[in-house]
Amino acid sequence: MSVSVLYRLRPLAVAAHVFDVTLTVSQPAKKGQVFRLPVWIPGSYMIREFARHIVTIKAQAGGKPVALCKLDKQSWQADPVEGPLVLNYQVYAYDLSVRGAYLDQQRGFFNGTSVFLSVDGYEQSPCDVVIERPRGKDFHDWRLATSLTSRDDAKDLEAQHGFGRYRAQSYDELIDHPVEMGRFEQVEFKACGVPHRFVVSGRFNADLKRLARDVKRICEWHIKLFGQPAPFDRYVFMLFVGAEIYGGLEHRSSTALMAERADLPARDVEGISDGYLRLLGLISHEYFHSWNVKRIKPAAFVPYDLTQENYTRLLWAFEGVTSYYDDLALLRCGLIDAPRYLGLLAQTFSMVERANGRNKQTLEDSSFDAWIKYYRQDENSPNSQVSYYTKGALVALALDLLIRRQSHQSASLDDVMRALWTRWRQTQNGVAEDEWEHLAGEVTGLNLQPFFESALRSTEVLPLVELLASQGIKLEFTAAQNGADRGGFYADAQPVSIALGFGAKGASDALGVKLVHVHDGGAAQTAGLSAGDVVVALDGLRVSQPDQLSACLCAGRNVAVHAFRRDELMTFDLTPAPASADTCRLSPLGGAPGAWPMV
Ligand code: ZN
Repeated sequence: MSVSVLYRLRPLAVAAHVFDVTLTVSQPAKKGQVFRLPVWIPGSYMIREFARHIVTIKAQAGGKPVALCKLDKQSWQADPVEGPLVLNYQVYAYDLSVRGAYLDQQRGFFNGTSVFLSVDGYEQSPCDVVIERPRGKDFHDWRLATSLTSRDDAKDLEAQHGFGRYRAQSYDELIDHPVEMGRFEQVEFKACGVPHRFVVSGRFNADLKRLARDVKRICEWHIKLFGQPAPFDRYVFMLFVGAEIYGGLEHRSSTALMAERADLPARDVEGISDGYLRLLGLISHEYFHSWNVKRIKPAAFVPYDLTQENYTRLLWAFEGVTSYYDDLALLRCGLIDAPRYLGLLAQTFSMVERANGRNKQTLEDSSFDAWIKYYRQDENSPNSQVSYYTKGALVALALDLLIRRQSHQSASLDDVMRALWTRWRQTQNGVAEDEWEHLAGEVTGLNLQPFFESALRSTEVLPLVELLASQGIKLEFTAAQNGADRGGFYADAQPVSIALGFGAKGASDALGVKLVHVHDGGAAQTAGLSAGDVVVALDGLRVSQPDQLSACLCAGRNVAVHAFRRDELMTFDLTPAPASADTCRLSPLGGAPGAWPMV
């Protein structure tokens, strides 16, 4: 059976970072076929206007040129024609992130949202895509990885190293299977019987067998949490490693990740480094999304409107709950122990505590405004925003502990997640804006409304001191000297506490210490300092490290702060203020520990 829509994609010029795409529509619309490219990619809530990377575009039918008219920033309309219409366009691809498209001599990567124009009226029709390897002898050993369904038989696919013909049942499916190509390494494993492929590109030297072993444990834990079978018949992890990069984007049967190469597990080393732990947490996070947001999703995303912002107040339930389970899964599947997990949780507490925006923005508002705030952060963001990831994770924790306590340990957040999953399997409907809360109350038989009202629609403090105490864990905040890092620790670790604070977060700069954020009402702001100022000296003595800002303060004595704003040297008179107690410490309360977080 032939299809009405066929894409042929080829890396045209690797050094110029250009993909060439030919799109053939066998029966174009009679009044003139319209094509459009998404302005955003699901999972990353920001208008990105991918059409700006289309360099050239032309159309023809029967060998004759057909006029194309630009309708708006992302849409084109071809003149009416009889018979097949062929569109040819080139896409500039040099975005290293997981959200766009990339091509150079080493590798290629793309999301369908960057390279495949949708064909108006055919969004629900099957389409084929032929993906070619770059031409030339330099690329004979390139391979291709994707979770798209192949139309070639397995032997041909193997002989072509994955290059060939694929099919998607709709445009929505087409753009939800990113593609990686190049000279990657890979490991394969089965989780609950489902084939998983882990592809790593970039330069590295690591123990991929160990990685496969650890990731398999995580995957099996998630699959069993929601109940077998897994919602996909295969899964592909695509990880690119480099320097100073981190991030991931979820898809229905795959995920694109980027991380530091040093975060991969080293050969012949046991134990889990902090970097490897961060990578495992990222993997766990994106995999959990296979259920929570790729299938269970806000009604506002059904279907996605890829031409504009899609507003929902529910991102806390999709990103926050996922952030709660990502690290928790590492404990529950046996990769880390409870003290290590509680150390990670303490870091989340500190991150929320260190942003005064938590007193100004509610979690629902943070979700709604993700498009203009969370995804477009600036120097003032900690003073004005709360993250639906980190505070969302704490709300999930509080909800879990509240359900456990009120149900006398007979129910937990796991039951709510399983109920959401059952509901999706039965109806495939999106979750209406008020439905998540209703369902949580219904499943547990508890009145959770006062909690949701306070946690989601106010900026009140979450009742976590008492809820953690009910599990035998003490939550407190101290003023710790390691104020520049993520902070947070469990039990025995004793940071150096400080009495006075500078009231700003700094980063080393060629000249001194650049202020990244200046906290509301802190000593630095009161003295007149601003984010962007580069502090070069305190009382005439040079500073070069962020920790030096607080270290030289003593009570009852002002400090002269010498700083550059733009190219002007200024002096500020700073009165030291008490350091804010914003570093979380979790510790055992004594007595019998609760069942959480182990089960
Ligand atoms: Zn996420």
